[in-house]
Amino acid sequence: MSSAYIKCYMCDAKAVGKEHVPPRCLFPKRRDLASGEDLRKELLTVPSCNLHNSEKSGDDEYFLNVLTSIVGINEVGRQHYNKQIRRRNSKNPSIIRRFADRSIEINGQLAFEVEIERLDVFIEHLACALYMAHFKSKWHGDVEWLPEFLVQIQSTHEEQEEIKIVKGIDSEFNKIALHGMNKEVFMYQVAESDKLIKMRLYFYDNCKILLIFPNKI
Ligand SMILES: [Zn+2]
Repeated sequence: MSSAYIKCYMCDAKAVGKEHVPPRCLFPKRRDLASGEDLRKELLTVPSCNLHNSEKSGDDEYFLNVLTSIVGINEVGRQHYNKQIRRRNSKNPSIIRRFADRSIEINGQLAFEVEIERLDVFIEHLACALYMAHFKSKWHGDVEWLPEFLVQIQSTHEEQEEIKIVKGIDSEFNKIALHGMNKEVFMYQVAESDKLIKMRLYFYDNCKILLIFPNKI
């Protein structure tokens, strides 16, 4: 029994640390908020190996930059961007260059293309971590996700169908409890049925992502 060890949330390797879910960098420090409120209360963590600790990669930063560039996020998200994220970006010009290289104009406003493959990898990790934090067991299998926030910012005719889907999700989750100790930054809901589990994530109130865990084991 002495060989027993705690496994990483993503793989079978031995966990050597903890991964915050969602990443801690999303939660503003008290000193960066006008209200001085503590929004880092009881952050969720899962055991993680070295490889799957995303704080060692730039993916957290990228995700945070995508989130805080979205129109409609709350005041906490905006203040977080204006303080900590700008400060961090100024020390890391490569991330600004990434956005600048991909900037495009939509309806006279500057926008940028989201690196969807990069986001895909990040969200898969986030989904597995949140599943473990919530259910206290590991998810084995694929995760599908719907970036509701991307539907919000584009509204050409082709996306009308997607907007309808989002409205359907709104009514589906209408009466389900919200989890999270720092709801202005992050909260989530869980809807379980016989065949699948859905989790709806809210970042800074208005940036929503739907996770779908098919074929419940
Ligand atoms: Zn791992």
